Amino acid sequence: MKTLPFTNEQLEAIASQHPTPFHIYDEKAIRANARRLKAAFAWNPGFHEYFAVKATPNPWLMKLLKEEGFGSDCSSMAELVLAEAVGNVGEDVMFTSNDTPDAEFRKAVELGAIVNLDDITHIAAVERACGKLPALMCCRWNPGPLKGGNAIIGKPEEAKYGFTTEQLYDAYARMKAKGVKRFGLHTMVASNELSPQYIIDTATLLFDLVVDISKKVGITFDFINIGGGIGIPYRPDQEAQPLETIGAGIEASYRAHLIAKGHPDLKLYMECGRCITGPYGYLVARVRHLKRTYRTYVGLDACMSNLMRPALYGAYHHISVPKYGPAGTTYTEKAEVPLMTCDVTGSLCENNDKFAIQRAIPEVQPGDLLVLHDAGAHGHAMGFQYNGKLRSAELLRRADGSVQVIRRAETLADYFATLDFPGL
Ligand SMILES: *Cc1c(COP(=O)(O)O)cnc(C)c1O
Repeated sequence: MKTLPFTNEQLEAIASQHPTPFHIYDEKAIRANARRLKAAFAWNPGFHEYFAVKATPNPWLMKLLKEEGFGSDCSSMAELVLAEAVGNVGEDVMFTSNDTPDAEFRKAVELGAIVNLDDITHIAAVERACGKLPALMCCRWNPGPLKGGNAIIGKPEEAKYGFTTEQLYDAYARMKAKGVKRFGLHTMVASNELSPQYIIDTATLLFDLVVDISKKVGITFDFINIGGGIGIPYRPDQEAQPLETIGAGIEASYRAHLIAKGHPDLKLYMECGRCITGPYGYLVARVRHLKRTYRTYVGLDACMSNLMRPALYGAYHHISVPKYGPAGTTYTEKAEVPLMTCDVTGSLCENNDKFAIQRAIPEVQPGDLLVLHDAGAHGHAMGFQYNGKLRSAELLRRADGSVQVIRRAETLADYFATLDFPGL
């Protein structure tokens, strides 16, 4: 069952001020979810979530999440600069990059960020870029064929990320010899994973490895970072990840696989993006044309530059038509709404510019508002300008019900801004 935190009247009122398409995020729901995640891991005194900036790189949302105690997980110069702008510096920044330019290592070290290395050769790269290694270092583990992987992230052994298990022992020994004092271990082997056990098992693998490396290398670990990848229920018949179950499962594993094996307490870190903002962001568009040829096409004023996931991965994003919602309450999908089977399209000259293919959606007419759910992560962020399509505005519905423009829509002037050509 999908619900919307807006009535049709509220959405029409917002759309009368802010032309469609736009993304709108729900502050109240984001904060409530952030608190739920922290509560699930309250057993671990050092627990820290580093919000994966790439999911929704908007400083207003990052600031809101910082107020909830979240740090920033960055992987590029722009993301480091955003973290700094919202006041996340020092160990509130995790720098999990790959194929990293020297300048980004330098920026991360200047900010005092935790540098999470992607490869054994990057030890020397950081030394070259920064003069010496920071006192705290982390390595990203690629468990290879140990772990099954999933549809978006693929098989770990085919993934470009991280160190092999053997390389880790060597890397920590070398870093210890070079004077590094504090250590972390990271992995990220899930993406949009809906099984709690998969996340718990990932933590267990890290606990076992931490114990083994500690013994062999003669170090102890400050933290493990289990990465992101907690999935969200894009489809109405899917269930949200039970964060409490994941928290309790990891706690049990922590006691059995780490503390009982003689390793001192360590901090548990996460760098989730999708499950932090994904379900609480909506792409709101209007039906522009209804076209009936060999199929019925519902043409929107949004296109895949506003939400690329359906075209990129065949991802499902649920569609609601708020005009069918009861007045005065939030919209909850009803069974008795008339349906039409159609392709829901954008205006790009690419036939994969479709938000839904042969889907039964509530019957719409040109001019109707339509909402694509779960667009709050990897939505606006993946926008692009191919075909001269412009990125939309981002709005934040504040806890008091007011609406704040947190990014304006692009204009043609933005599109032409990098050209130096007479008349443009
Ligand atoms: C993408 C990414 C994340 C966030 O993943 P989600 O699926 O959004 O939770 C975290 N860490 C790294 C290194 C990533 O690349």
